[in-house]
Amino acid sequence: MVSRDFHPESTVVNVGGVRFGDSEKPVMIAGPCSIETEEQMMAAAEQVKSGGAQMLRGGAFKPRTGPYSFQGLGIEGLKYLQRAGKAYGLPVVTEVMRIGQLEAVCEHADMVQIGARNMQNFDLLKEVGKTRHPVLLKRGMSATIEEFLAAAEYILAEGNDQVVLCERGIRTFEKTTRNTLDLSVVPLIKEMSHLPIIVDPSHATGKRNLVTSMGKAALVVGAHGLMVEVHPDPARALCDGAQSLDGIGFAELMKDINGLFEYL
Ligand code: PEP
Ligand code: MN
Repeated sequence: MVSRDFHPESTVVNVGGVRFGDSEKPVMIAGPCSIETEEQMMAAAEQVKSGGAQMLRGGAFKPRTGPYSFQGLGIEGLKYLQRAGKAYGLPVVTEVMRIGQLEAVCEHADMVQIGARNMQNFDLLKEVGKTRHPVLLKRGMSATIEEFLAAAEYILAEGNDQVVLCERGIRTFEKTTRNTLDLSVVPLIKEMSHLPIIVDPSHATGKRNLVTSMGKAALVVGAHGLMVEVHPDPARALCDGAQSLDGIGFAELMKDINGLFEYL
């Protein structure tokens, strides 16, 4: 069902009026890695809105590598995210890590994110497929394109075709960057599937100074949008500060991207 042979027209995924896959301009999702406080979410929402983002991100359930790292605010965080999104007119996306969190995530967020670590959590994919909530499915860090599309198939097979794919870099031998951004996936997936695909240059590189250039590259090869980490005070972020832009950095990225689109 994810294949273009089965469904030749491109699918448009509508998240509270923000449309992935059919507009001339890419969809920009921005916000902090983690929801930390209500003030932090309001400040982030103000910055990404004024920069020109159409959606707000923020994690309440965080899949951290170590158990002693900040694990997220849970339901309380979902409320801050929802309030910030409403205050600035931005639909919100947040990650669900297990089936038991799905109801709360659907209640508070406009789009459900399945993170790289859960791309092959097949029970979770099936449950998300049973909802009619838009889904942002991130590529597993060692997933092939075939496995990535097979994961999306689980969601579509349950009747939910509102799926946006997200390339976020894959694990390679290179350690200078956090992951290796696999940009060929974008034109390949657009050939193979009717689903929209966006790129996350923040997790792909792990380095703030690479986010704008790799984000631009992703748009040049045809990505339908970007997801970028933006924090009001990256030096104090509880998670992923090194790859987060501040409000000024995000405004500069947006200026660069708008300039790019005058040529494309
Ligand atoms: C995220 O986007 O918050 C995240 C944890 O990313 P990934 O699942 O791609 O590592
Ligand atoms: Mn992060």
